[in-house]
Amino acid sequence: MYLAFIAGMQILSTQETRSTCCYCGVGCGVIMTSENGNITGVRGDPEHPANYGKLCTKGSTLHLTARMELRALHPEVRLQRTHARQPASWDAALELAADKFAAIIQAHGPDAVGFYISGQLLTEDYYVFNKLVKGLIGTNNVDTNSRLCMSSAVTGYKQTLGADAPPGCYDDVNHADCIFIAGSNTAYAHPVLFRRIEEARKSNPDMKLVVVDPRRTDTAAAADLHLAILPGTDVMLFNAMLHVMLWEGWYSEEYIAAHTEGFDDLKRTVRDYTPQHAATVCGVAAEDIVQAARWFATSKATLSLYCQGLNQSAQGTLKNAALINLHLATAQIGRPGAAPFSLTGQPNAMGGREVGGLANLLSAHRDMANPEHRAEVAALWGVESVPGKPGKTAVEMFDALRSGEIKAVWIACTNPAQSLPDVTLVHEALRTAEFVVVQEAYADTETVTFADVLLPATSWGEKTGTVTNSERRISRVLPAVAAPGEARHDWQIVVDFAACLSGKLGRKNILAYADVETVFNEHRLSTIGRDLDIGGMSYAMLESAGPQQWPLLQGEATGKVRLYADGVYPTANGRARFVNAKYVGVAEDINIRYPLHLTTGRLRDQWHGMSRTGKLGRLFSHVEEPMISMNEQDMTRRGLADGDVVKVASRHGSATLKVAASQEMRSGQTFIPMHWGGQYMGGAGVNALTTGVFDAYSKQPELKHTAVQVTKLELPWQLVAMRRGNALVRMDRLRALLQRFDYATLGLFGREEEGVVLRVAHAEAVPEAWLAEVDAALGLDDADEVMNYRDAKRGISKRALMSDGRLLGVRLNGETAARDWLKEIIAQGADARELRPWLFAPLSAPPAGQSQRGRIVCNCFDVSEQEILAEVRQGAEVAAIQAKLKCGTQCGSCLPELKRLVAQPVAAS
Ligand code: SF4
Repeated sequence: MYLAFIAGMQILSTQETRSTCCYCGVGCGVIMTSENGNITGVRGDPEHPANYGKLCTKGSTLHLTARMELRALHPEVRLQRTHARQPASWDAALELAADKFAAIIQAHGPDAVGFYISGQLLTEDYYVFNKLVKGLIGTNNVDTNSRLCMSSAVTGYKQTLGADAPPGCYDDVNHADCIFIAGSNTAYAHPVLFRRIEEARKSNPDMKLVVVDPRRTDTAAAADLHLAILPGTDVMLFNAMLHVMLWEGWYSEEYIAAHTEGFDDLKRTVRDYTPQHAATVCGVAAEDIVQAARWFATSKATLSLYCQGLNQSAQGTLKNAALINLHLATAQIGRPGAAPFSLTGQPNAMGGREVGGLANLLSAHRDMANPEHRAEVAALWGVESVPGKPGKTAVEMFDALRSGEIKAVWIACTNPAQSLPDVTLVHEALRTAEFVVVQEAYADTETVTFADVLLPATSWGEKTGTVTNSERRISRVLPAVAAPGEARHDWQIVVDFAACLSGKLGRKNILAYADVETVFNEHRLSTIGRDLDIGGMSYAMLESAGPQQWPLLQGEATGKVRLYADGVYPTANGRARFVNAKYVGVAEDINIRYPLHLTTGRLRDQWHGMSRTGKLGRLFSHVEEPMISMNEQDMTRRGLADGDVVKVASRHGSATLKVAASQEMRSGQTFIPMHWGGQYMGGAGVNALTTGVFDAYSKQPELKHTAVQVTKLELPWQLVAMRRGNALVRMDRLRALLQRFDYATLGLFGREEEGVVLRVAHAEAVPEAWLAEVDAALGLDDADEVMNYRDAKRGISKRALMSDGRLLGVRLNGETAARDWLKEIIAQGADARELRPWLFAPLSAPPAGQSQRGRIVCNCFDVSEQEILAEVRQGAEVAAIQAKLKCGTQCGSCLPELKRLVAQPVAAS
């Protein structure tokens, strides 16, 4: 839709483009507004069946993250490791990459190269990568960050139901009488789906919500029953629930007899899983296990929603299978509201699985071990054969890179130097590699620092193709603006590289695509006759009829909403299989040296390694810096207070960050958000701690659990420096200094004109030369402009920059009590002349007349926790607070927290 209007003397053309959110697996439809080549707005697509117009905090700020600072805009190469990369032409960059890859393949064979790609790529991107690696090069060394996210769900489905196909859909929340959420903080990780659950509960007050999670997350706090199990004890819990179901007769003999196999073995196994025994292992009450079993089995329809809590585990496949066992035993499957429904973390993890974009999969759910399937794929691609030996999976690939077995790696649209477990080894691997290509939209990720060749890729709002969400629904992704700089589409980069490489290898180029639709059509063709058959789908159809679920056969108008209604499963005999799942504990036991459990997970407003969300000030306002959350008693035992800097150490590495008391945590447990890497904190981030031990079937690593110790660090010297304006460029300059301090974090703040803040704690006074570098990075070094304060005796120095009465920046060294309220003053950008006498005062609260807002709960309407609590103290309920402050009335992401704040006891102010 195009609109044109006159603003002043300028004619602006406004365009609206339908597309899909690029963050989580809910796959919300968006409508982008763009003006003169810039994306200026985004709103939820009211017609998209995943979200019907709703967006969460991340989706609703997508347009604000479509900015060019720190984007990779031109190819760069470096010819020697010790040199910086230099700008290069596309031809030169691709030629160099093809030369290196061809030489390595010819000297050492195709298995000496690896490709590590991403669940954020579009299906077409994924398809050509898969064909390049398995078809043209002839290795299965192509894996993806979906390995860290979804591969246990794949193996769980395949081992039980026979195919990697989530049987349910989002509409099932409206038909379920019991929703059983396991290992998912849906309120944060899939917020728009959680909005649907909230609405469904409103219209069906009898619905039961059971949440299984070691933490009392906002999702768990909303539940009728929260089973706060100890990390990794899920199989024990699910088997105990089955034990209860069998004992009480809450199962379907008829369904088991007609549609399944393998029940007798499992029945024998769960005999030992009494609720009393499980209660001691899981750390929950036996009565609660019985209650969960009752609601699960006897509700008219039970829907399970599960995610990384089950998947990111060395027992991930068994956890998935043990939960699906419950659905099969109780016939809670194949009906509206009844399904084991795995939620995908990434926007297109499903699309990647569909094209076989993992080291052990083949196109269209074909089996790599099956010679007929391999022959089908080879025939489709026009090659003699495709390799049958599974390739290296994520952790294995970087291990092989470190050992020299793999010599060159191509990384696209993902940041393994931040997101893989035991990341110190990954850094070593990237340093050891002979050659590293990074295909990326952002120039500032940790992984880019290792690139010998950087290839600039397009990003959300610029790309075209398709994605598949958790409910098997394929949506179009469309561009609102042109590719910036010299960036190219991911599929195009692969096609251009293939043209170059095939010549050097003397092989036929099998990737000569003229456009992206041709790629989609070839993928469509590959699915015909398979369980995910999309023979009836086309770009034109998706654009005219809207997003569609698979399978959608030729001649059909819509896809299949739910699978297995007839009880026939895609296995050799049509029967689903019970997996005889036995409980095995976590990979790393706690002990005297590492006495605490560490789990990782998502924040509400950040996404993955923050390469996109980490560039918007308001997305730091809910949680502004890395923290480890702990139970208050555990903190007291260690002499820790809120905000103390601690060293968290595991068997793999350490991280230095602040500690925060949290009522979410049971004693003995800690939590660090998964997002923080070395671009925002000293050290390598949270994954310096995590273990690379992985599940035997899915090869998915146990990112969800590590044994750690937490000790207080004495870092008495404090430095806080912040500056409004040009925040991303200044943040990038500060990154060069981040690693030299004993503790340091970087963040953004503010809404209109953003600022950057550096927080430092150090064992001793920071040298003057370092201060000068901080000042220079923040533009606080102009002696004529800044106001200075110095107390030489105490080693304290401060400076402030004001312009036109507005406070633009401060640097506080040695005494930082005023840091928080000064940050708010800088963020507000209001006239601060009357505060001038107080700028260097050691005040922890603003002078009289100024209020301090603190943490922001509602991002849409900029409502702080303090403002909400002030209303709660007056006795206001949720509706009244919403009416007055508007919080939770737009995207709704803050609604669970708002309800929690109202429900919990509030101290008088
Ligand atoms: Fe995007 Fe939020 Fe929707 Fe996920 S729930 S797709 S992050 S808008």
